[in-house]
Amino acid sequence: MGTGTHELACHHCGAVFRRVPLEPGESSRCLRCDSVLESYSRFSAREWLAIVIATGIVFILANAFPEVTLFVQGKGQAASLIDAVRVTWESGYPEVAAMTFAAGFLLPLAHICLLFWILGALAFGRLPVFFKESLHLLDALLPWCMVPVFLMGVLVAVVKMAGLASLVPGIGLFATAVLAVFITMLTGLSSHKLLTMAHDMGLDAPVEKTPRAPTPALFARTWALILAACIMYLPANFLPIMEIASIGGASSHTILGGVIELWGMGSWDIALVVFIASVAVPIFKIVALSTLVFLAQVRSTSQLKQRTQLYKVVEFIGQWSMLDVFVVILLSALGRFGNLLTIKPSGGAAAFGCVVVLTMLAAMGFDPRLAWRRAGHRRHLSSQRANITLN
Ligand SMILES: [Zn+2]
Repeated sequence: MGTGTHELACHHCGAVFRRVPLEPGESSRCLRCDSVLESYSRFSAREWLAIVIATGIVFILANAFPEVTLFVQGKGQAASLIDAVRVTWESGYPEVAAMTFAAGFLLPLAHICLLFWILGALAFGRLPVFFKESLHLLDALLPWCMVPVFLMGVLVAVVKMAGLASLVPGIGLFATAVLAVFITMLTGLSSHKLLTMAHDMGLDAPVEKTPRAPTPALFARTWALILAACIMYLPANFLPIMEIASIGGASSHTILGGVIELWGMGSWDIALVVFIASVAVPIFKIVALSTLVFLAQVRSTSQLKQRTQLYKVVEFIGQWSMLDVFVVILLSALGRFGNLLTIKPSGGAAAFGCVVVLTMLAAMGFDPRLAWRRAGHRRHLSSQRANITLN
């Protein structure tokens, strides 16, 4: 019983369309930049609520049990995310500890609670209190919830340690794998989708306002963030990210050194993942964003569609460069065997975390609609229907 009366604004180019009720399997696309405006929701509010509750239970399991246990000479050392955060804090890197605690625990938990709050009301045909505020908060939280990246971090840590000692995966690891799948599903529930869900239920939800037009002041801010990320990229790669002390002696490891080591161990696939996430992705993000900002600034009219696609890629890969930071803190939590083996995070990890946060802020702050606007596309297309395509 879609009302179908209100409008849909494209968040990537700023065009506005009349909303058309969708059939199962359909999605509507922007006529101008081809971004998906809306896709048919397979689940009702009640079904989504059930998924959120299941996610909450898996979240508790993932954090209550250790991810892996490392055995060195018969002695075992278990580690969960919380252990890893505590060890990192105690090693003198509170900023790295805080960053990983937020991205791996606090913000995903807030995301689950917030969806429970919103869907708990919608499932019973009511609007939640503070609906508008909750939706704003949801949009702000989403890019920073990194459970899938953390899962990949655990897997990389397992491969790195496998050659050194015996490892036993824990219940936490399996729970984290399931959690990553659930969280990825829930990422699809954007504020926009929840709002249209409320409208379709016939609730008196606020109408989504066309996002405020971006101002050219954005250019200066984005350039400043890109420049800061470039500067931090140097210590992130030249300083060691961790130090390993064992009976065999002490050694420090840089990101690239770790990749070469993994390759040498024969784990070329994991080496490739770490190389792409830690070395290639940050450079790609910096180069791609600089290009996008520059082209928008000089009012370039060419390849607007492709530039919008490129922005979406930059947005999507943003959090994946956090991978190596998770690996380092996990290894630190596992490698606590006194003189036998001690692993500690090092300055490079803090610098690397800064690069990730700075590039993410730069990407989120830049508004791709500015490129369309500067290229002269001001007209709203509210008289037209959106393009309906079958998935
Ligand atoms: Zn568009």
